[in-house]
Amino acid sequence: MANSLDRLSARAALVEIARDFHARGWMHGTAGNLSAREDAEHFWVTASGQPKGRLDESDFLLVRAADGAVIESARAGNKPSAETAIHRAIYALAPEARACLHGHSVDACLVSARARPKARALRLPQIEMVKGLDIWEQKPKADLPLFENTLDVARIAEEIGRRFRKAPPAVSALLVRAHGATVWGRGLQEAYNRFEVLEFILGYMARTR
Ligand SMILES: [Zn+2]
Repeated sequence: MANSLDRLSARAALVEIARDFHARGWMHGTAGNLSAREDAEHFWVTASGQPKGRLDESDFLLVRAADGAVIESARAGNKPSAETAIHRAIYALAPEARACLHGHSVDACLVSARARPKARALRLPQIEMVKGLDIWEQKPKADLPLFENTLDVARIAEEIGRRFRKAPPAVSALLVRAHGATVWGRGLQEAYNRFEVLEFILGYMARTR
């Protein structure tokens, strides 16, 4: 694709995605975090606490996927996103994933907060747009995994690892309750497309309750 995000460097693509997500209300203020693999063992991730509408390439740190150690940081004092553990969990579970995007949208909060207590998944609606999550059935019965929110992000990451190791999800996406969506893809453009499609689906679900 001529203008694919995959033609850019990982950090340049993430800067573009951050501006776009901020403008669309999916990464307000400093909320949300984005990552892309540099190679099999390392990925770039947003620095903690930076306004998502104004990132540049120096607002990403290179971390080691295995343990989260910082390998490269353009600015002294920058720390990797507090939610880096979730990105590490996804890259460990999905070796094919090249990018992982996490936002905090109103629709993601509404839909996940309304789910019954202890629900572990939400059934996706049978609408055309679920094809954008690679579900190619006439009347799909596909679930979007749901995880409980806690301030202890490491616990969310552990739970994602535990559950997905037993049963890989039908879609490359998950929700954390009253918090937001995380989506991954084999490339930056694919992850971006999936995130955009998921936000459409969440908007539909929020309005059709
Ligand atoms: Zn978050």
